[in-house]
Amino acid sequence: MSLVDPFGRKVTGLRIAITSRCNLSCLYCHHEGEEANPTGSREISKDEIVKVIRAGVDLGVKRVKFTGGEPLLRSDLESILKKLPGGLDLSLTTNGTLLAGRAKSLSEAGLGRVNVSLDSLRPEVYSRITGGTVEDHRKVLAGIDAAVEAGLVPVKVNVVVLKENEDEVWDMVEFVRGRGVILQLIELLDFSGRGLGGDFSRIEGELEGRADKIVTRDMHRRRKYFIDGAEVEVVRPIDNTEFCANCTRLRVTSDGRLKPCLLRNDNLVDLGSADLEETKRLIEKATFLRSPYFCKGQNPSR
Ligand code: SAM
Repeated sequence: MSLVDPFGRKVTGLRIAITSRCNLSCLYCHHEGEEANPTGSREISKDEIVKVIRAGVDLGVKRVKFTGGEPLLRSDLESILKKLPGGLDLSLTTNGTLLAGRAKSLSEAGLGRVNVSLDSLRPEVYSRITGGTVEDHRKVLAGIDAAVEAGLVPVKVNVVVLKENEDEVWDMVEFVRGRGVILQLIELLDFSGRGLGGDFSRIEGELEGRADKIVTRDMHRRRKYFIDGAEVEVVRPIDNTEFCANCTRLRVTSDGRLKPCLLRNDNLVDLGSADLEETKRLIEKATFLRSPYFCKGQNPSR
């Protein structure tokens, strides 16, 4: 069984926001494209998460990423992981503040790898961007080390490139080289319209200039730069027709709706109280509603 949308794109991944609650307040946050629901008044339940993943697996889903809000605010993540079918690529994106104490139990429950958001190595800049404290910053650093130790690899450190942190990129490259983790530089989707983004083209030009090797991943056609033992991946979705053309994921919102695209909210499919078979039909329906937001000759689509 496989899921293919009307543009010929296969769906092989689910990205599930398991809560909209967060313990940080990043200046730039896109809230996974959800309309704000910071109190999480309706939060997808453990059984609903397991059901949508099982239904997805029956239809060819191979990868699941848990996100939020801050997914580690849910204490039932380990018990969710334990109920999932084997053989899946299970990963998590987290702000890392609660990771150090959970890395081992998450790994034992079946999580494969983590992405940890860390927008600055300087505690004061980190605080300005995320609203977190100096102590939170220390916990994130400890969380990265704990994740490596627990075997949640490859650990990726996510950095959204901002005016505030663009001068730190080469320090970040040193940071990841020393720890055996991957640096993932993300282009800002400027939902706030405040011009917070850094000069990504300049940075990518510098990466190109210093790279020993450059490879392109299938997923979103993301480029990876290898620089003297450090690995740097770039995520540039804006106006990127290749990014959308190679998108293989369907999203699930924190209130239990299928979301075909990060950037749209006019085509959500409510999972309601559907049983497993009905959930499969709803996943097929949401797949049919997928269309590339940035596509050649038409921008945005539909
Ligand atoms: N709290 C978790 C975390 O920090 O990873 C999960 C949710 S967060 C929304 C997931 C990822 O989206 C983070 O790596 C974050 O940096 C990224 N992100 C959030 N807002 C963004 C934006 N406006 N543009 C680009 N990336 C963004």
